[in-house]
Amino acid sequence: MSGPSSATRYTLSLLPDSIRVAVRGWLNCNQVLLRDPEGHVLVDSGYAACADETIGRVRAMLEGEPLARLVNTHCHSDHIGGNAALARAFGCPITIPRDEVPTIDDWSIQERWNAYVDQEAEPFDYEATIAAGQSFRGAGRDWQAHAAPGHDMEGLMFFAPEGGILISGDALWENGLGFVWAHETPNPFVEAALEALATIERLSPRVVIPGHGEPFADVAGALARARSRLAAFADDPRRTARHMMKVMFVFSMLHRGGIAVAGADAYVARVPVYRDLDERFLGEGLDGLGARLIGELVKAGALRVEAGRAVPTMPA
Ligand SMILES: [Zn+2]
Repeated sequence: MSGPSSATRYTLSLLPDSIRVAVRGWLNCNQVLLRDPEGHVLVDSGYAACADETIGRVRAMLEGEPLARLVNTHCHSDHIGGNAALARAFGCPITIPRDEVPTIDDWSIQERWNAYVDQEAEPFDYEATIAAGQSFRGAGRDWQAHAAPGHDMEGLMFFAPEGGILISGDALWENGLGFVWAHETPNPFVEAALEALATIERLSPRVVIPGHGEPFADVAGALARARSRLAAFADDPRRTARHMMKVMFVFSMLHRGGIAVAGADAYVARVPVYRDLDERFLGEGLDGLGARLIGELVKAGALRVEAGRAVPTMPA
């Protein structure tokens, strides 16, 4: 479903041969390799627990050549998790968005966040930063960094005017975008995400390489879908909070491989994000929440229950 064959297909149809995409799942973002005579550049590194597979995918795309640089769109665990392992494997320096520097320099912020949502990441050293308005070379063209706030207020996306190619991170997917935080109306994260979509519309890319999912060309359709999703969240913090809980839960199930249904309530009780969201927006209490989340996610097709265990249906 998301193996090299699909990457090859899109390489042939939508993208020049110098741009390779390892299409992954949800726990791992895609890896985008920009092959360039001045040195190959990789965008984003996946989740820490899957770093070996990521290294294998990147090695295949490099075809024996060295990796000159790794650049991150934003510093969430599914985009930076493989940074340390890739730096060890390929000796490549790392560039992060400038505004993410405080959350990487003080790694305890990452640790607190990961404990809050039950995720993990491995500390890494970066060598350079990039900010909106700056650019880098890759695949024989310039990639402009543009602010991509919303899902991550400090995130970036990278646009190559030559060929009209956008590496969108989690600012725009073919069917949606990265979750936005629940907040009382007006929700500043929704407002920011809409700004990022307006930037994309203005750039008018011919093809988008998203952080998750296949590259796509129907950008107008994707923008419309993302805007309607944000509109549904804008005035409804309860709905946003419920959505966030489901996103966080599936993400952790991908990482953990699943959970015993009987243990789900105890699990959500010990991961602070669920209590927090419930107290701020829902006020329903945690009793039965784990089982309820599993029920809703089974109905949505994201989980299935096998022999008393809820397991994800999608690839990691
Ligand atoms: Zn992501």
